[in-house]
Amino acid sequence: MSATTNTLRILIAGGGIAGNAVALQLLRAGAAITVVERAAAPRPGGQAVDLRGPSREVAERMGLMAGINKRLLHEKGMSIVKADGTPIYRMSMEMFDGKGPVADIEISRGDLNDVLLTEIADTAGELDYRYGDSIETIDQDGKGVTVGFNSGRSERYDLVIGADGVHSRTRKLVFGPEEEFTTFLGGYMSFYTIPTPAGAEQDWMAMHVVPRAAMGVRPDYDPATSKAIITLRTDQDPALRGDIGAQRTLIRDMLAEAGWAVPEALTHLETTDDFYFDELVRVDMPSLFKDRVVLLGDSGFCGSPMTGMGTAMAIVGAYLLAGEIAATPADLDAALVRYQEQVTPFLDKAKELPGGGIQMMLPTSKVGLKVMQRIGWLMTTKPFRPIMMKMLDSTQDYVLPSY
Ligand SMILES: Cc1cc2nc3c(=O)[nH]c(=O)nc-3n(C[C@H](O)[C@H](O)[C@H](O)COP(=O)(O)OP(=O)(O)OC[C@H]3O[C@@H](n4cnc5c(N)ncnc54)[C@H](O)[C@@H]3O)c2cc1C
Repeated sequence: MSATTNTLRILIAGGGIAGNAVALQLLRAGAAITVVERAAAPRPGGQAVDLRGPSREVAERMGLMAGINKRLLHEKGMSIVKADGTPIYRMSMEMFDGKGPVADIEISRGDLNDVLLTEIADTAGELDYRYGDSIETIDQDGKGVTVGFNSGRSERYDLVIGADGVHSRTRKLVFGPEEEFTTFLGGYMSFYTIPTPAGAEQDWMAMHVVPRAAMGVRPDYDPATSKAIITLRTDQDPALRGDIGAQRTLIRDMLAEAGWAVPEALTHLETTDDFYFDELVRVDMPSLFKDRVVLLGDSGFCGSPMTGMGTAMAIVGAYLLAGEIAATPADLDAALVRYQEQVTPFLDKAKELPGGGIQMMLPTSKVGLKVMQRIGWLMTTKPFRPIMMKMLDSTQDYVLPSY
């Protein structure tokens, strides 16, 4: 019997945006899906993610908009503020027609993940969703993949999708060590939830910048809480990996001179339950698949949170991968080749860092900061607004295939 989507057994490693989006589409196509997520429960957290151009189109085609609309953030724009909280310049949503730093469709990462999980739960089909487990071994023999799990189980699949994030274990097991595929981009980012600081302007994201470091405060769906967004320009330090104490110390040290709401936000560093901290890296793979193991999302193509395109890449990639698999379930090899061909032009644009990356965003001196802020203000003037819009969304021209 030749394979149909109904006879495919597919394992997805990672229950983030990429893993859940592809799980949903493949479940709908009739495949038997197993998801293994290392965390014990869905991971909350993450600031607002923008849905623009192709990613918005995918969210519509996947039928996610009803769920997204219920948790939509109504941000009015972004302002850069001085140590006393007064704005240096402001970028309203209207100024950039919803295509500036604040897009017209914004939802927090955790809420988008909930929307996907709700849709998965409402979809009939063969699903085994396991929290607290992960892949230990992968053996391929040309016809399928035998996977050994941390829990001791061993199972066989037609295809394994590695959607296990920027430090992907699937990538390491099948393609090689992380250092071969990653480029350090000059710093670290951290996100966590805080009580909305007194004096924060409602529905506005605000950012305060000092040499080498910045903190933004961004509204949540619940007005009582906000997201702290920290960016640090510093050398790579392997000792920071997994050492939350050292990560918090670095944040405190680098923001010691900052004013505005920063000292207050830093007092919640110890108590927040959704602290996220990671290095800024770019992931480039020479090929996204090897036999029957394929990479999706940050594991295969990450531009870092600085691009603001991580979620867009994850859901556009998931839509393309599931679409190609469902188009030729009996020929997975051809499906993976087409997936790579379809997604690559989108990634080439989405991975570009807007505005010169961390070196431009976080100068090392006060003089550099003044120059950067002058350039920022210039971008708010009418002649320069189209440049800013182009920089923030270089994927507008991408033509999404239909399935
Ligand atoms: C908690 C959190 C908060 C984030 N906040 C932001 C943000 O505010 N702004 C931003 O730009 N980006 C943020 N990101 C990154 C952003 O989610 C991704 O860039 C983008 O959505 C692509 O998602 P992904 O599913 O490929 O990767 P991820 O979102 O990183 O998801 C990968 C998933 O795989 C799981 N996992 C990891 N290793 C294994 C393993 N060995 N076995 C099984 N599962 C594994 C992880 O627990 C995670 O749930 C955040 C990521 C996380 C996990």
